[in-house]
Amino acid sequence: MTTYNTLALVSHDGKKDDLVGLIKGYVDKLQNVNLVATGTTGGLIEDMTGLEVTRMKSGPLGGDAQIAALVVEGKVDAMVFLVDPLYAHPHEPDIRTLLRVCELTNIPFATNVATAKLLLDSL
Ligand code: PGA
Repeated sequence: MTTYNTLALVSHDGKKDDLVGLIKGYVDKLQNVNLVATGTTGGLIEDMTGLEVTRMKSGPLGGDAQIAALVVEGKVDAMVFLVDPLYAHPHEPDIRTLLRVCELTNIPFATNVATAKLLLDSL
């Protein structure tokens, strides 16, 4: 069993339903985990699961950069970022930064549902 104090959640628009569906299956486990998310993703998770989420700005407005800063400060233990591979995003540089700092600090980073399940199963 792995203990993650803080889990960060981000999803592109085409993957938000997948993320909500995924999180619904882990609500009990996630009661004791601090959740932080980009704005729209976090709002959906709060509304659809009842979990409490600390919401940053929306991704296109800098939310990914805010989460990257938290990673650099050692305040994030794992990331689930469901990426939509079929759509280009205006904030691509921020997404790359987030991935880069997670690689730099060896933070588990799940980018699809299958890997996210492995990560959440390990909680
Ligand atoms: P959002 O941001 O949760 O505010 O939609 C996610 C993103 O596109 O990075």
